[in-house]
Amino acid sequence: ESFHDVDMGEIIMGNITLIRYTRPTPVQKYAIPIIKAKRDLMACAQTGSGKTAAFLLPVLSQIYTDGPGEALQATKASTQENGKYVRRKQFPISLVLAPTRELALQIYDEARKFSYRSRVRPCVVYGGADIGQQIRELERGCHLLVATPGRLVDMMERGKIGLDYCKYLVLDEADRMLDMGFEPQIRRIVEQDTMPPKGARQTMMFSATFPKEIQILARDFLEEYIFLAV
Ligand code: AMP
Repeated sequence: ESFHDVDMGEIIMGNITLIRYTRPTPVQKYAIPIIKAKRDLMACAQTGSGKTAAFLLPVLSQIYTDGPGEALQATKASTQENGKYVRRKQFPISLVLAPTRELALQIYDEARKFSYRSRVRPCVVYGGADIGQQIRELERGCHLLVATPGRLVDMMERGKIGLDYCKYLVLDEADRMLDMGFEPQIRRIVEQDTMPPKGARQTMMFSATFPKEIQILARDFLEEYIFLAV
């Protein structure tokens, strides 16, 4: 068992070595090939299982294969469509939703390490912190956005983020997001008209538990998904 069983490209493979991950954890071993095969995924995995790398590695690898140029073009397209210059509204190719600032920051930290020396630029936004600073960071470019649901809705309302080109959507710790009452915000984000519909995007849900509410969310957000429990 090694990370080299699935080719994630030279840069990502190099970063895995740099960060000293030698063997994939079980959730990584099973989830990475599923995500690389472009399948939707419902994974039951606990914190500490290595679930962050299980979705970040294949998604970053895919963004890199797709080419970050696509996102840059999306930004240009928006300024023309609207007929006026929208100040560097960002259209991330990938969105990771997380319940808390702490988790969002952890995911962002890993994303930074894994995207090192690639042209993929990760960003993070969360509530309870200065929004101006986060907007300035976004405006420098954002291919992969890690966000808490409330702050993302705020960013969308301010016209700073568009999800029109979001090909990879991850809901991390989905059960905790529901416990915290984020379902309306999550539905607002995922079910808005501009978000590519299921089937046109790839969606991955991670949750420690799999109660009825998560099953409903999986039914609504995922397309012919693979269920993984580790
Ligand atoms: P997570 O469950 O994603 O929060 O990861 C838990 C911890 O395990 C984090 O500190 C990761 O950096 C670390 N980790 C994840 N995957 C590996 C791996 N394959 N080898 C060594 N450490 C890992």
